[in-house]
Amino acid sequence: MSEMEMRDRITALMPRARAELAEFVAIRSVADPRQFPPEECEAAAVWVRDKFAEAGFSDARLEETADGSKAVVGHRPGPGTDAPTVLLYAHYDVQPPLNEAAWRTPPFELTEVGGRWYGRGAADCKGNILMHLTALRALGESVPVNLKLVVEGSEEQGTGGLEAFVPDHADLLRADTILICDTGNAAVGRPAVTVSLRGMVNVVVTVEALESEVHSGMFGGAAPDALAALIAMLATLRDDRGNTMVKGLDNSQVWTGDPYPPEQFRQDVGVLGGVSLLGSGSVSDMIWARPAVTVLGIDCPPVVGSAAAIVPRTAARLNLRVPPGMSPDQARAAFLEHLRAAAPWGVRVSAEVEAEGAPFLASVDGPAYRAMAGAMLDAYGTPMTTLGQGGSIPLCNVFAGVYPEAEIILMGVEEPLTLMHAPNESVDPGEIANMALAEALFLQRYATVGR
Ligand SMILES: [Zn+2]
Repeated sequence: MSEMEMRDRITALMPRARAELAEFVAIRSVADPRQFPPEECEAAAVWVRDKFAEAGFSDARLEETADGSKAVVGHRPGPGTDAPTVLLYAHYDVQPPLNEAAWRTPPFELTEVGGRWYGRGAADCKGNILMHLTALRALGESVPVNLKLVVEGSEEQGTGGLEAFVPDHADLLRADTILICDTGNAAVGRPAVTVSLRGMVNVVVTVEALESEVHSGMFGGAAPDALAALIAMLATLRDDRGNTMVKGLDNSQVWTGDPYPPEQFRQDVGVLGGVSLLGSGSVSDMIWARPAVTVLGIDCPPVVGSAAAIVPRTAARLNLRVPPGMSPDQARAAFLEHLRAAAPWGVRVSAEVEAEGAPFLASVDGPAYRAMAGAMLDAYGTPMTTLGQGGSIPLCNVFAGVYPEAEIILMGVEEPLTLMHAPNESVDPGEIANMALAEALFLQRYATVGR
């Protein structure tokens, strides 16, 4: 099939992709039973299984993993044992919608605004699942490689279900190339693969100072305030310029790949006028090469409903991003030590490590990487670039450890405008179409160079 024919087929498949993405986004597959019923994730898993079964993965099925989430796995045999094997990865769980009032469209209703499709998971990662399906449908019967599939159900929770599953089922998922489709291009129309990822450490730190709440008028001034202590501790994690300051962690590394233009970054992130970007390095240094700490949540009374009382006990959930070249174990130890040392007034501090993942660097000199570069060039008419990503995909390290020979390529439809993890997530349908074309061209061509 020619490239032109393939492009036409994908164009014709896009109304179906939209209808199915709408169906899929309507499933509230947040993998946290405290927020959404587990039946939603189950329904999403079944949806994925059925779609891929229809696309030739006749043995597609659900496999339970250690954290209770279910991964969809399956395989689709190619023309023969000589053909290389490609593992397709994605995840069907999504981030919670967060502040629903901040959404301009209903989070679980795929809605078109200005040519983009809005909805939680529209890009991350349900858009990538539609990309896979559209590429496979365009190829039809002529898929010249062996395909394997794994779509996990708890990626956004960081609870590591699939990470534990892979080593125990190494043969089931073994492949020559793994397409981890949970990242995106440099911008709409500017194709890229991601070659560097930061690792992370998630910590819940708890501060206790009093037996219970006391009146802030009668006792405030001398009574030790747990919330004030926590705020003081958190404030030590940044300097005036916003650099992350954790004692013992280097924060001076420099990114050597393609830069992230600051003006584009401001736009992509939606920085308000007059507000500065953080840090003394370039944008790419700050988000791809250096550690970064973010306060994800604090337990304290919300404004409405709060009383004139001193908070006796509080906790913060903290996220530390760890760049390539830094060990997450050392980073965690330094982080916890820093927090303890920063605690004022002898308040009681305890910390629980929720999750930890190592950073990742992809190799970029294999046949799959070259085939992908060619496929993206032809799909977009512009050369593929390489990006870093500040986020973590701990699974990359698991794949790299279990399949040291495999080429790992990180790609997808999650370009910066998608606002993944934030309210008003969206996907550019043109990215689904072009990336599906790139994926289809890759699968066609890799068959001849992959062995
Ligand atoms: Zn994702």
